[in-house]
Amino acid sequence: MPGSESTVLSVAHISTEPGERAEGYVELGERQDHQPLRLPVCVINGAEDGPVAYLQAASDGDELNGVAVMHRILQDLSPGKLRGAVIAVPIVNVPAFHAGRSANPVDGKKMNRCFPGSKTGTSSERIAHFLFNEAVLQADFCIDLHQGGVSPMIDECRVRVNKSDRAGRASFEMGRVFGIGYIFHKKGPDGQLARAAPARGIPTIDPELGGTRGWARDSIRKGVQGVKNVLCYYDMIEGEPIIPERQVVTRKHRTVLCNRGGFLAFRQSLGALVRKGDVLAEIRDPFGHVVEEVKAPVDGVLWSHPPYPMVSTGQRIATIGAQVRYV
Ligand SMILES: [Zn+2]
Repeated sequence: MPGSESTVLSVAHISTEPGERAEGYVELGERQDHQPLRLPVCVINGAEDGPVAYLQAASDGDELNGVAVMHRILQDLSPGKLRGAVIAVPIVNVPAFHAGRSANPVDGKKMNRCFPGSKTGTSSERIAHFLFNEAVLQADFCIDLHQGGVSPMIDECRVRVNKSDRAGRASFEMGRVFGIGYIFHKKGPDGQLARAAPARGIPTIDPELGGTRGWARDSIRKGVQGVKNVLCYYDMIEGEPIIPERQVVTRKHRTVLCNRGGFLAFRQSLGALVRKGDVLAEIRDPFGHVVEEVKAPVDGVLWSHPPYPMVSTGQRIATIGAQVRYV
């Protein structure tokens, strides 16, 4: 089992003995100016034995809350006080990050559809292949820090495999321990790290830390606590996880569309429990007259909504997390 012996831990040339920390950049091909594409990698090898955690952020290049979580976690961890090891890649999708967008502009792909990757594939597939083989397969569990892009969304944790095997059950348990209050539990599309790693027996969660441009302090704070909860749970650091007594679990997202165009004013806040028929939002014309009351099509939780208050007929005004249960 990886991480159970006190040995050298390396990712490419970044190498550590037990009790050491190393960080640097791994070169992966070249950019269009012929300069190397460089991935930031940190390895913290604890003085004592324990599991190996793999943490990554900015798999979507405009999702920055996870990068701030990494800053806190990597600065707070000390190899002398760590049981096991942490491999961290704070910016995974470097080409998309430079472009300030979600997908890699070199191949137009979302990184989180490319795992486990391909050594001779497109730009995103090569990055995924490197990460999967050099980092993920050395790990006992993975945390892939995301957010709902730049659209406002509740802070939630996604578990993208069902509970039919050990890695699936451990992934769900890790989602619960992350403790962010809302869990979306549904099998994800092919190519997600949160599916590809559990398929190799490595439990993985995909926390979605809100949704914003830039950084959102509250989402970042919850993300830091979530990562620490998981490290505590695996007995890698001292402390007790802080887990809410009751967390919402949903298995379904229901899109809500509007029939009229205009300006959208919500009557409910993100995270509100709504009943079928409750008014979610009203749409007003340019003079302020209400032209439509948009109602919840199902019972559930107001999960996300678009970033701007202007909508056209047939546009998505919200997503509801449906089929709510609790853990
Ligand atoms: Zn994402």
